[in-house]
Amino acid sequence: MSDVGQRSLHQAAVEQFQRAADLIDLDPRYREILTYPKNEIIVNFPVTLDDGSLQVFTGYRIQHSNILGPYKGGLRFNPNVDLDEVRALAAWMTFKTALVGVPFGGAKGGVTIDPGDYSEREMRAVVRRFTHALGSNIGPDHDIPAPDMGTNAQTMDWVMDTYANISPPGFRQSVKGVVTGKSVECGGSVGREEATGRGVLYSLRHWCGETETRLDELSIGVQGFGNVGSFFAVQAAEQGCTIKAVGDHTGTIINNDGLDVVKLFDWVREKGGVAGFPSADTADTEDLFTADIDVFVPAALENQITAERAKVMKAHLVIEAANGPTTPEGELVLAERGVQVVPDILANAGGVAVSYFEWLQNKSAQAWSYEEVDERLRELMWQAHDRVVQVRDELGCSRRDAAYIVALRRITKVYDRRDIFP
Ligand code: NAD
Repeated sequence: MSDVGQRSLHQAAVEQFQRAADLIDLDPRYREILTYPKNEIIVNFPVTLDDGSLQVFTGYRIQHSNILGPYKGGLRFNPNVDLDEVRALAAWMTFKTALVGVPFGGAKGGVTIDPGDYSEREMRAVVRRFTHALGSNIGPDHDIPAPDMGTNAQTMDWVMDTYANISPPGFRQSVKGVVTGKSVECGGSVGREEATGRGVLYSLRHWCGETETRLDELSIGVQGFGNVGSFFAVQAAEQGCTIKAVGDHTGTIINNDGLDVVKLFDWVREKGGVAGFPSADTADTEDLFTADIDVFVPAALENQITAERAKVMKAHLVIEAANGPTTPEGELVLAERGVQVVPDILANAGGVAVSYFEWLQNKSAQAWSYEEVDERLRELMWQAHDRVVQVRDELGCSRRDAAYIVALRRITKVYDRRDIFP
């Protein structure tokens, strides 16, 4: 039996934080609290399709913790979305926001749907009806969704507009911050669209600084060429990296001399996937994991780096752009083989960082420049990396454990002062 499926994703997420909790002898009361999401909202809502028929969809919003601020986390539209997946993703958000020091808690939501199967009108109706069903369970000072897999700025614009329309007239302008990741025209921040990929690149640059490695000597393989993977790859190539292999739901392509990722960016937007891209060899899914690369950047789904794949991987560094891309067994094999891992809650935190900047801009009715956003993003990412490296060196633990410890220490300090109600 492969390691995927041995435990649920949420169980794996809980085990990750419990392992770090063991290292710092965390107060058992806080362990207990953080093991469970605070609220689990499940909605079933009907939508009339283009042919006049009706379909009932299931949507989720899991609010894991709001001890540090309003619940915060993406909305995922994918056929695999289920309660267990969103539970795990919501918990990871709590630790991510605590780690990078933005004043938010953790949440995640989604709808079990393949957006590719529906027209734009149908998707608009799904988004509006889902938002309506969530109602006052979200709000700019309560729970703030953002894009994730299968959703984008257009989705967030529809959520914001629906939420504004179900708010009392006097509040309609002040509720723009109910979601982040909106289009710039609708109150989004410049730099938000590419922020997660850019944050992944800042993670790689920090690692290069730590290890005295030249960025432009690295060859990279990327799984996923959506929002996160594509912006990361294009910006990494701009800075001299060689992107040798890219895989997505349509296939895997390899060019050992380096793929033209700017052309690939346009190709994927036109064709919907990397398959068929000229000037590259078509390869099998498994070839992505055995490619002759220095760095592997998973930027698609969970549970991709299994023990089997970890055994044959040539990369010596994994930067987790996706959430939960490495199974616990895969991680053990990577550690045995000396492959370093920059964990998801650190590597992909650029998205929530710039979401925080967008929320601040909405609250103060300001629009920052790209340079200001980027400067603050880099500072926030590198400070978080510094904190993780410090704890790793202090305790001699893995980067993942260190990242959780930074987050747990921040959370427990607040619990210590606030105490447990009543
Ligand atoms: P996206 O929907 O824009 O892109 C997803 C990519 O995954 C696509 O290229 C798709 O082809 C690929 N994919 C889907 N199924 C696949 C399969 N079976 N095999 C290989 N590739 C497959 O999503 P995104 O926003 O880029 O999110 C990617 C990951 O990054 C997710 O784990 C998400 O939670 C995480 N993340 C996203 C953000 C953000 O700001 N969007 C922030 C933090 C973390």
